[in-house]
Amino acid sequence: MTPSIADTVQELNEALTPTRLAMSPVALVPTMGALHDGHAELLRTARALGDVVVVSIFVNPTQFGEGEDFDRYPRTLDADLARCEKEGVDVVFVPDAAEMYPFGIADGPMIDPGARGAVLEGASRPTHFRGVLTVVTKLLSIVRPSQAVFGEKDYQQLVLIRDLVRTLFLGVGIVGVPIVREADGVALSSRNAYLTEEERRHARALSRALFAGRDAAEAGAAAVMDAARGVLDDVPEADVDYLILTDPELGTPPDEGDARLLVAARVGATRLIDNVALTLGDPAAGAAHPRGAAG
Ligand code: AMP
Repeated sequence: MTPSIADTVQELNEALTPTRLAMSPVALVPTMGALHDGHAELLRTARALGDVVVVSIFVNPTQFGEGEDFDRYPRTLDADLARCEKEGVDVVFVPDAAEMYPFGIADGPMIDPGARGAVLEGASRPTHFRGVLTVVTKLLSIVRPSQAVFGEKDYQQLVLIRDLVRTLFLGVGIVGVPIVREADGVALSSRNAYLTEEERRHARALSRALFAGRDAAEAGAAAVMDAARGVLDDVPEADVDYLILTDPELGTPPDEGDARLLVAARVGATRLIDNVALTLGDPAAGAAHPRGAAG
């Protein structure tokens, strides 16, 4: 069935009226569009929850810093709508900035992500998570889903959104979806469209470094970092912003057990991020369900 398309909050409320009257649960999948197979996995996850599926497509200006790629971010609405239809989405919410920011994007209340928003991505992009958490809060308020689905591709974002829900008692379940990758390991991303063929080859260094780190995890944190750093050192075209090992909550990694290895690097003019779950030390010490896995 063709999804309903809502450009305004009022149209969204109209589209969801039967759902709300029937008290059927809603699952929300927030996106910035340019949908790819990674997003499709989120849509399928939402569908499998058995809820009415709402997808938002909004290139959120407040999460882009000055000089970042807001203006050239890929916008492919027709193809996105076709994909939403194929994946059985019920409602697509496509607001503009005036709808989402009634006081304009430079004014109005914003959500402060706290200390965990200032590290990793936040260190390089100081206003990024403020924009992300603000728009996610707005979308949750507008759609009022019982569950919202996010990718582990943006792992720090997923952690901060769980913090947000807990801190503000938003009463929505947050479902994390593992990273969808190309056959050569590169994580799918709308920004991969910026890469030249040569840059695309260099981009493989990120996932190769993460996998090398994961493969060395039994020998401990230092071995993880050596292995990952070794791969990145061989590809100077991938200009590393950070390579950091944390615990699943982005804190200090444990000596043994579940951890996360996160990387950001610039390839040409494009900033790419990726991450992987790993178990340090004795593999039997890891929990069966690391944070961020679905559920
Ligand atoms: P974006 O449109 O880039 O803001 O992404 C929307 C959602 O899709 C976020 O929750 C992302 O983490 C998720 N996502 C993007 N790429 C992937 C991927 N390769 N695998 C899994 N989830 C993804």
